[in-house]
Amino acid sequence: MIKTDVVVIGAGPVGLFAVHQLGIIGLKTEVVDNLDKIGGQCIELYPDKPIYDIPAIPECTGKSLTDSLLEQIKPFKTNFHLNERVQEVSKEKNSWKITTSRNKIFIAPNIIIAGGVGSFEPRKFQIKEVEKFENNGIFYSIKDKNYFKNKKVCIFGGGDSALDWAIELSKFAEVILVHRRNEFRGAEHSAQIVRKLEKEGKIKIKTPFQIQSIEGQDKIAAIIIKSDDGKTENIATDCVLGFFGLIMKLGPIVEWGLNLDKKTIPVNTENFQTNKEGIFAIGDICTYPGKLKLILSGFHEGALAARACFKLARPNEKYRFEFTTTSKSVQERLGVKKSD
Ligand SMILES: Cc1cc2nc3c(=O)[nH]c(=O)nc-3n(C[C@H](O)[C@H](O)[C@H](O)COP(=O)(O)OP(=O)(O)OC[C@H]3O[C@@H](n4cnc5c(N)ncnc54)[C@H](O)[C@@H]3O)c2cc1C
Repeated sequence: MIKTDVVVIGAGPVGLFAVHQLGIIGLKTEVVDNLDKIGGQCIELYPDKPIYDIPAIPECTGKSLTDSLLEQIKPFKTNFHLNERVQEVSKEKNSWKITTSRNKIFIAPNIIIAGGVGSFEPRKFQIKEVEKFENNGIFYSIKDKNYFKNKKVCIFGGGDSALDWAIELSKFAEVILVHRRNEFRGAEHSAQIVRKLEKEGKIKIKTPFQIQSIEGQDKIAAIIIKSDDGKTENIATDCVLGFFGLIMKLGPIVEWGLNLDKKTIPVNTENFQTNKEGIFAIGDICTYPGKLKLILSGFHEGALAARACFKLARPNEKYRFEFTTTSKSVQERLGVKKSD
């Protein structure tokens, strides 16, 4: 069980800046995100696209913005719990009990929901008994590529992830790339490399095929793939990787007793609190009159929510407004070295 001042749900840009605002006022934060990486939509949907409306940064990309936000919160040594969805939120005396999909439990007086459009989840294979093999031969993301060394791996998909991983894993695994169309939709350059590797005998390509079934008891022995004209093939394999893109689901947030307005959470704009004391919502997931779904709005919302968290985390202390330029305690927290 982890006790902390604030649990931030969502490691998108808004959750990251909230960590900064909480850190400079001396609050300890733990961050949980369902994805295997930090950065939310910026990393998952547009890492290389330019953004032109972050204050004082004329141009950055989704990736460089995420990197800068992470650099800015480095002094706070925040723990990130990735690949974990916050599943349940319940009251525990004067605090909140937060339980994740991996049964990790946090106890905190404050929760900041920076959940964007909900949790991103991989689109999965729609065949019988597939759950039985999930993370035991069937994967939708790669945490450690070494796991696939010298294995026979079937990769499904035609987008960038499928192509990039086919190229990467072909360096040390036997790769079969399966796609339901003859054309790939990933970057042309990657598609060309894949075709070249096929000619060199380093990758096998099966198109247009889709998965029909999986064979095996405790582990995968083989898969059967089927083409549009009904032709089937049995392929002995150790692992199956599915890269079919992500779906966004509001997910378990709807079950936490919060007021909802369509797929967003109404908040009080004084402190971004929801209808539950100690639960705040910021960024794309919150709504109020005039809400703009922009990163810069989320930064402001996080700043106000952080100050409200202070009251519940330190009920016997008075919050003092301070500028980072002149506050000694803030600068100490940031690890700023004084030059006389
Ligand atoms: C193509 C594109 C271009 C854009 N360009 C701009 C732009 O130029 N300028 C601009 O200001 N904005 C832009 N936006 C919008 C901007 O990306 C969003 O406003 C911003 O990402 C919102 O940040 P967030 O932190 O609120 O949510 P998100 O970035 O959506 O992050 C939310 C995170 O919460 C996680 N999460 C949700 N529920 C749970 C749960 N139960 N448990 C664990 N984790 C959970 C998700 O996995 C996700 O990682 C663009 C968006 C897109 C799609």
